[in-house]
Amino acid sequence: MSSLFGETLERLCSTLRCCFGIESKRMIRLLPLGAAAYLLFAPILVTANDQSFDSWLNDLRKEALARGVSAETFDAALKGVEPLERVVELDRRQPEFTRTFASYMSLAISQKRIERAQTLMRQHKDLLDKIHDQYGVQPRFLVAFWGLESNFGDHTGGFSVIAALATLAYDERRSEFFRNELLLALQILEEDHIAPDAMNGSWAGAMGQLQFMPSTFTGYAIDQDGDGKQDIWQNLPDIFGSAANYLGQVGWRGDETWGREVQLPERFNWDLTGLGTRLPLQEWDRLGVRRADGSPLPVVDMEGSIVLPSGHKGPAFLVYKNYRTIMIWNRSILYALAVGHLADRIVGLGPLENPGNSEEKGLSRYDVKEMQVLLNEAGFDTGNPDGIFGRQSRQALKSYQRHIGAPADGYPTKELLQALKSQSVDSNS
Ligand code: CA
Repeated sequence: MSSLFGETLERLCSTLRCCFGIESKRMIRLLPLGAAAYLLFAPILVTANDQSFDSWLNDLRKEALARGVSAETFDAALKGVEPLERVVELDRRQPEFTRTFASYMSLAISQKRIERAQTLMRQHKDLLDKIHDQYGVQPRFLVAFWGLESNFGDHTGGFSVIAALATLAYDERRSEFFRNELLLALQILEEDHIAPDAMNGSWAGAMGQLQFMPSTFTGYAIDQDGDGKQDIWQNLPDIFGSAANYLGQVGWRGDETWGREVQLPERFNWDLTGLGTRLPLQEWDRLGVRRADGSPLPVVDMEGSIVLPSGHKGPAFLVYKNYRTIMIWNRSILYALAVGHLADRIVGLGPLENPGNSEEKGLSRYDVKEMQVLLNEAGFDTGNPDGIFGRQSRQALKSYQRHIGAPADGYPTKELLQALKSQSVDSNS
């Protein structure tokens, strides 16, 4: 699904945005955002490299050759490449509203997608079983990743990976990260895994049916069918084998599932929620956590954490080690829940007992930023208010919730924003 797929990349990019920040030497223009956005946010600046693109390419060429890329490969790959304005636009795009759990899941997991996944899993059973034996990743999870990343190969992105990465590497905002990805993409061409004109991917350089960045490719892609090429674009043995190899290498446990939906008791210590707390299942059982249907948790020697993707009123999940491994693939807690739940549905498990409130609208970036400013003013440090509600903001909100005697779930709502505003008015009057 292209919208979800786009969002996945957006998340990757917002993560990177946090890591690298925006540093501009020269601002050439403002993005054409709506007037309201200008008022609400510090302007988003398009930065330009002081160096001409041709001169920049010249330097890149020297570096690529020093890293073992041949002149033939480099010249063929970069021939006629110019920075792509559309890639810069997509890179600067900011979602106006945060996506809620219910809306995310309804986009990610439709009945149609579940049925297609079931058909494809039957169709490719022999291959998936073989890969399961080799790497220990259950077929239902591989098919779930495949469905979410590219709708089973339908949407792999229509950009030339080299042109997209060259654009983002030349652009100053995150040049270091993308320059390295570009050099790795050239290395992939040098090794002749794919022809330059067939090396397509997303605007951010994620390639093939499972959307591997070049660094993931060079770290984990494999030639499952033994034809000498690691073909994550068209060859299903290579596609599944590479994904299973990646998951296996970063800690997948083939004898465990990802987690499950649970019921929490009436009185629950909300401080225990979040990935920061891991307890044995028997401890969660003692605290009154039950399966979603009310039955006891399985008696197994495992640890888990409670995740509340839409606050204490929404569904609760007890998640295991494999959930954390999914988050190495993609840092989003919603993405990880979608992979897990889709994998469950593929093998016939039922829909969620509590699917969340489909009417709930996510907070706008403006609301989030305002909440961050107000929390800071009230002495609960969220860091630099940026409109993205990350870990530090959640911790600050939890502290505020404890302070006012509200369930400390760290989930930002309109009600909490209103409470903060009232408090701010009171303290200023
Ligand atoms: Ca191959």
